[in-house]
Amino acid sequence: MRGAVIYAPGDVRFENLDDPEIINPTDAIIRTVATCVCGSDLWPYRGAEPIGDPHPMGHEYVGIVEEVGAEVTNVKPGQFVVGSFATSDNTCPNCRNGWQSNCLHREFMSTCQADYVRIPNAHGTLVATDEHPDAEAVPGLLAVSDVMGTGWYAALAAEVKPGSTAVVVGDGAVGLCGVIAAKELGAERIIAMSRHASRQTLALEFGATDIVSERGEEGVARVKDLTGGIGADSVLECVGTAESMRQALHSTRPGGNVGFVGVPHDVRVDGQELFFSHVGLRGGPAPVRAYLPDLIDRVLSGRISPGRVFDLTLPLDQVAEGYKAMDERRSVKALLKP
Ligand SMILES: [Zn+2]
Ligand SMILES: [Zn+2]
Repeated sequence: MRGAVIYAPGDVRFENLDDPEIINPTDAIIRTVATCVCGSDLWPYRGAEPIGDPHPMGHEYVGIVEEVGAEVTNVKPGQFVVGSFATSDNTCPNCRNGWQSNCLHREFMSTCQADYVRIPNAHGTLVATDEHPDAEAVPGLLAVSDVMGTGWYAALAAEVKPGSTAVVVGDGAVGLCGVIAAKELGAERIIAMSRHASRQTLALEFGATDIVSERGEEGVARVKDLTGGIGADSVLECVGTAESMRQALHSTRPGGNVGFVGVPHDVRVDGQELFFSHVGLRGGPAPVRAYLPDLIDRVLSGRISPGRVFDLTLPLDQVAEGYKAMDERRSVKALLKP
């Protein structure tokens, strides 16, 4: 088969690789229907994370089951499936508590930008749709495997409630999906922080009521202006930089909550400041598996359209161009089709 391999910052190649095989009885092999480049893939691509030896890339996927291990009974060959970037058995105590992304048997996916993928813990990770979805539904289902599930978790972690005010920091695919989630969870006011016209438009179409294009302390001041001087009930931090986290903490009202889902890079939270702020913090990799059945239904019923975050579709063999386009911010998110 063929797949993406990263060698160095800026150097992603499309190469012939060994076909994946069932290793454990809980594995499945899927034929990729669609995969994509994630904002978090850009950290190593930009040299902000060490790469080490050349290795395959990709953790977002939908596909058709090709083969299952002996203990996989929930899905069968031929079915269309959606999974999560973090695999889970769905039975351990952490899974039963709803924290599948902290499963005691968790393995993170990292080989999905390829024709075929081995899914560890397939019995607990994969959810099959009743029928093969129409082509138009595929991007939305692919978004559910990470960015929509992550935006959903950000909104839940920030405790978005009906009638509340939510701020979304970050206008990448996760931030845009966070707007969808805040709207679905009933936020009355949704302030999207974005300085890019096309992303502002999409945020408004997804349900944002206000756009703040300022950043840093100026951005915080604008949010305060819009929230009676006290800050928002819920803030979804969808970037992961020191600046975005500071902006999120300072935009939250006393008693409010920050849901942080951008993988932190050099983020430091000051204990004194947190102590006196009365702001609640919860983040981490989203337990996407917990939300899959619900989010798949919302996509297939047409209630939400997170697939619109894909503004570039490329054949899988042009995966390197997908990275480049996202790195240069020509694209929000690149969908790849084998
Ligand atoms: Zn991702
Ligand atoms: Zn588990």
